[in-house]
Amino acid sequence: MKFVPTQPPLTGETLDSLTARLQERGEPAFRAKQILDWVYKKRARSWDEMLNLGKPLRAWLADTFDLSPATLVLGKQSHDVTDKLLLELRDRSLIETVIIRAPQEGVGLDHSRKTICISTQVGCAMGCTFCASGLAGLKRDLSAGEIVAQLLQVCYREDARTPRARAELASFDNIVVMGMGEPLANYDALIRALTIVNAGWGLGFGARRITVSTSGLVPQILRLAAEPLGFRLAISLHGATDDVRTQIMPVNQAYPLAKLLPAVQAFSAQHGRMVSLEFILIEGVNDSLEQAGLLRDIARDLHAHVNLIPYNTVEGLPWKRPSATRQERFADVLRAARISVTLRREKGGDIDAACGQLRLKTERERELSALHEPSVPTPL
Ligand code: SF4
Repeated sequence: MKFVPTQPPLTGETLDSLTARLQERGEPAFRAKQILDWVYKKRARSWDEMLNLGKPLRAWLADTFDLSPATLVLGKQSHDVTDKLLLELRDRSLIETVIIRAPQEGVGLDHSRKTICISTQVGCAMGCTFCASGLAGLKRDLSAGEIVAQLLQVCYREDARTPRARAELASFDNIVVMGMGEPLANYDALIRALTIVNAGWGLGFGARRITVSTSGLVPQILRLAAEPLGFRLAISLHGATDDVRTQIMPVNQAYPLAKLLPAVQAFSAQHGRMVSLEFILIEGVNDSLEQAGLLRDIARDLHAHVNLIPYNTVEGLPWKRPSATRQERFADVLRAARISVTLRREKGGDIDAACGQLRLKTERERELSALHEPSVPTPL
């Protein structure tokens, strides 16, 4: 499912593809680098700011490319330092991008670890039963330019917070492709976008600090293992047996653990890096000590890090978060075996933090307001 805009986003162009377009109209090769510098280094938000380009070229660029494929319609900051950006695309689809600041002990917020979580699809087809993003199914894939545009929106926001002091995206520690959608189901756009994010002429963000998360698409995991850039991999496991996993993740029917775990092993062998296993703790579903023991065994075999994430309740879904005691007991089983494990403290609970919740809520509000009067969110 693709949305074909009248003008493709400039943020979907690589240095090579833009050079080729410019050479077709007789421009010298260095123009492409000048233009990309305006976008990624100087953060120009209009063609008129690109003063070292002649007026005719600027006019051609404006006719040919979309400079702003995503517009910020809502920015929410939670009490626990998670920022959620709700972005509107050209077809009025909504996507979420999240900034997570994890303060380091004793050094305060200015030295917090900062992670950006980006989306790759509008909605999701994978149908995980606990997830707000998948509730209405897949609307469409994002283009590479729309994926990159999310990070530019984060840059604009950071530039406004600390004008030019820490202007580079490099002030972030990690980018995780873990927002709305199954990234590996939109493979080509994902790889093109991450190539632009990584390139020196693009956002210049190191591939080793970019993590791609998947619900377990085995063929694409093996394809990702062969990519030259060496991104990190996280698996949304959420169940240590096929029974539990199939109950909450339909993808497990096509790719059960007997297929998934060897693919993860192959990825690790190729990259020599620790893979992460994401495990959302849901009361009465996967939070037993038996599941903890089996997860411990899987993590040990894969030499994997385990992220335990207490479930964020989603309106309309029956699942609940286990008590803090139960969460700790589960984590202790892994800690006792010296598995590298993080039990995530709550982040963004007050801003609809579960995957896709802010978008879902805004879409529902839009539908309701459309019943009364047509309204468009006001760009910030
Ligand atoms: S958890 Fe991820 S893969 Fe599963 S439905 Fe939600 S967005 Fe899709």
